[in-house]
Formats: sequence, C-alpha cells, structure tokens
Amino acid sequence: MSKRDYYEVLGVAKNASADEIKKSYRKVAMQYHPDRNPGDKAAEEKFKEAAEAYEVLSDADKKAQYDRYGHAGLGGNGRGGFHPGGMNMDDIFSQFGDIFGEDMFGSFFGGGRGGGGRGGQRARGTRGSNLRIKLKLTYEEIAKGVTKNIKVKKYVGCNTCGGSGAKDSGSVQTCGTCGGSGQVRKVTSTFLGQMQTVTTCPTCNGEGSTITAKCGSCKGEGRVYGEETVTIDIPAGVQEGMQLNISGRGNAGERGGPTGDLIILIEEEAHKELQREGLNVVYDLHLSFPEAVFGANVEVPTIDGRAKIKIPAGTQSGKIFRLKGKGFPAVNSYEKGDQLVHVNIWTPQHLSSEEKSMLEKLSNSPNFKPAPDKNQKSFYDKVREMFG
Ligand SMILES: [Zn+2]
Ligand SMILES: [Zn+2]
Repeated sequence: MSKRDYYEVLGVAKNASADEIKKSYRKVAMQYHPDRNPGDKAAEEKFKEAAEAYEVLSDADKKAQYDRYGHAGLGGNGRGGFHPGGMNMDDIFSQFGDIFGEDMFGSFFGGGRGGGGRGGQRARGTRGSNLRIKLKLTYEEIAKGVTKNIKVKKYVGCNTCGGSGAKDSGSVQTCGTCGGSGQVRKVTSTFLGQMQTVTTCPTCNGEGSTITAKCGSCKGEGRVYGEETVTIDIPAGVQEGMQLNISGRGNAGERGGPTGDLIILIEEEAHKELQREGLNVVYDLHLSFPEAVFGANVEVPTIDGRAKIKIPAGTQSGKIFRLKGKGFPAVNSYEKGDQLVHVNIWTPQHLSSEEKSMLEKLSNSPNFKPAPDKNQKSFYDKVREMFG
C-alpha cells in the first residue's frame, strides 16, 4: 500500500509556509470531520490521513526528514518515534486542542464544542477499576461450557443517592470555576502565536458540578462496598490462564462514573484420573498381565462419562489407543481433541510361593522371551505422535 504525498493530502505546495499548512489542514479536517460524515469510513480515513500529514508537516524536524527522504525518512518501520498511520482518533482530537481553540471549534460546529477532547463532554465521576477474579473449572465443565453465578465482592452503585454522592438534589451546585462546562480555557504562547487551550476544570475535575452536602450512605463517593451476583457464560474449551473480559461488571465508578470490567481468570481443577494436553486428554490405563495376554473389555473415564474399550489379546505395554473426538473442543473452532489411552501393564510386586513357582516354570518358555517387532513404533515415536 503506497502512501500519498503529505503535501498532496493537505493540498499545499512544497514551499508552503507553516501558516498555509495549518490553514489547509483545518480545511481538510473540517471537510472530513467524523461529526460531519457520520459512519463514513472513507471520510474517516481521509481525516486520519490529513492528521498524519499535518503531524509531520507541522513539525520542523519531521518535515525536514520527510522533504529529504520521503515516507521512508520517518522511520515508520520501527525506527524513530513516529509511526505513520498509528494515530488514533484520540491523538487527533488532542492535536486539535492545540491547533484550534474552543472558539474556533464553536464557529465551525455551531458552538458548545470543547477543543480539548472528543466531544468535550462533562465527565461524570471517575471510572471504577477493573476487578480480577479466579474461577476454577472442572474438566467436565470445560468440555461442555458452563454458566456460573458468582457472588463478587465489589463496589456497587449507592442506592440512596443513585450514585451522585449528593445528600439530595439541592446539594449539587454548578461549579463556580468553569460555570458547569467542566473545562477551563487557558491562553498560552507558542511559536505559532497566541493559542487557546482547553483543559479539565481543576475544581470539579471536569464534572461541572460540586457537592455541598454528601450522601450519608456512601460518604459522597456514590458507591458502596457490597456484593453482586454475576452470571458468567463460560464457553466450552477454555484453558488454564485464559482471561474472559466482562465489560461493565467490575467496580462501580465514583459519583456515577462508568463501571470497570470484570476479568475472569480461568483455572483448571486437576482431574483425579485424566490429564489435559492441549485439546487431547491422556489416560493411563493399567492392565493386569493376564488381561494384556488374553485381551479384555475395560471401561475408562472420559470428560464425558465412561467409555468401553476392547483391549485385543497380546497388547504390549506402552500401546496407545486413540478415542477419536473424546478430547476437549477448541474455543474458537469446531476442532476437537482425542482421548489417548496409554497402556501400562502391571507387574506384580508381591507373590505367594505358589505364584512364584508357576512363574518360574514359565520363565524359560520361548513365548515369554521378548521379541519386539522391528516395525513397532518406539516409545519416542509414540510420544511424538501423541503430541504432534
Ligand atoms: Zn450515596
Ligand atoms: Zn468546574
């Protein structure tokens, strides 16, 4: 994707003055401003493109680099601090605060708009913090997905004052410093001349109002420490260490501010008999020597109840049976793992004298001499196949 020339983007000549560049940027930014082109992606791209061009051409150093080396001179590939195309809308609007004053915005947009931030709205309260909780799940729950109702201790909105933190409606007063707008203007001198910047009102922290008498239940905070039951849908296939973010279910904000997120950290409860390996489940099956020799029908646990498997006569220790589709589902696809049944043959550790003499008689029998098949897969190959 080739980038357009920055001078072309702003519609100015290469030798344009700083003032001309500023004027042209203002014109282009106004034309493609998101407020004037709601939902228009192409306009938004043009708007961002113009902001990026201005970011460079308004900075003497960056402009010199660009004039000499073009886009490559700006180190967009990780060199240097500027990353073309990396500007987000907040960056762009904060850039506006420096270039246009509120008055200028007012005249363009019919007044009322603050230049310091997107929308310039009064901030209500302070955002609540995110809350992290650990949630332990069994293999069975993970296999099918589960809905959990969890009691979470956290800040909740104060019912007495409705989150405002005020004793009553009469104890909320418009802020005297900013007159309720939540913002104050400041005139600063820059190399481009006198500029008006808009910042958050220090008296009311941008809320536009102050409280003269605090709510007795929450001491003015607008929230109290309490408990909430949160219903959480856990999709099938989650894994140890995964995080689920539940937007807006964390700590309530102060004085009506937005609620933080609830972050669920998934933990796996160890299973008595099964071991998870990615999407697969491994089970160690112990067979007696006669079962291995004669074959047997055995039952094995799976994450979805018990399954019957037929052990053929002459099964060697180390053999792995694969139960297709009996593993875990993947979280984001239709893929499913298998259960791998790993055969171990139990060697008796205590024998009666009768058993001993029977075995001694057999020990010289040629059929009891190991004669591994050369084509039989080695243990190493089996392990590789299992996890490959
Ligand atoms: Zn309250
Ligand atoms: Zn104020």
